[in-house]
Amino acid sequence: MKIIASNFKTNHTRKSTASFIEEINGFLEENKIENEVIVFPTATSLDSFSTASNLTIGAQNAYAVDKGSFTGEIGTEQLDEFGIKTILIGHSERRHILGESQENIAKKYEFYKSKGYKIVYCIGEPLEVKQSGLEKTLEYIYEQFVGIDTNYENLILAYEPVWAIGTGVTATTDDIIKVHSAIKEKIDKPLLYGGSVKVENVKEICSLDGVDGALIGTASWNANDFKQILENTK
Ligand code: PGA
Repeated sequence: MKIIASNFKTNHTRKSTASFIEEINGFLEENKIENEVIVFPTATSLDSFSTASNLTIGAQNAYAVDKGSFTGEIGTEQLDEFGIKTILIGHSERRHILGESQENIAKKYEFYKSKGYKIVYCIGEPLEVKQSGLEKTLEYIYEQFVGIDTNYENLILAYEPVWAIGTGVTATTDDIIKVHSAIKEKIDKPLLYGGSVKVENVKEICSLDGVDGALIGTASWNANDFKQILENTK
């Protein structure tokens, strides 16, 4: 069984999210697909799951609080209202564009762990690190585990090289195998690959040793493409 996750980022409206979820949910039902499917819509569409009995809805982000004075953020009080118990933490866009430090990420991880959330935790190196070799790449990735309890039972990891995210440049199967096997040697948790996964390459990537599924952005935003991805990995 694979884990196939779709990260909407800042895409889709409430209306289009609801129809996407309904369509995918029906597709999973009809095609008896047993993979675990997770969709991370925008915070404004977290309630679009009323029909989603065959997939899980997760939050792309939330603050490490139940509630309080944190302008612009949401906490567990708002997530609970929609029954959300899955969260993405450490995504490269939050690290590199929104400026989240490892310290903040670890705090968030610890908080959502204490609440029993399923956590999809992302790690991955930027291009200049990749260009300096595998050893440096792994060193960089291991730094992203500082403060993270990797024994947590509800942890799923996602290796997403920064240079592959949204660029159309997918890591080679060789790159993926090397990094995944090194991480797997240290941490015995499901490990997804993310970064320009497409309809055309998802099957090959998901069948590699040490790859337990995929975290997909761009190629998952169209329901027909996502269905094809689910079909190709079932
Ligand atoms: P991408 O994004 O599939 O568009 O490369 C992946 C991600 O950011 O999770």
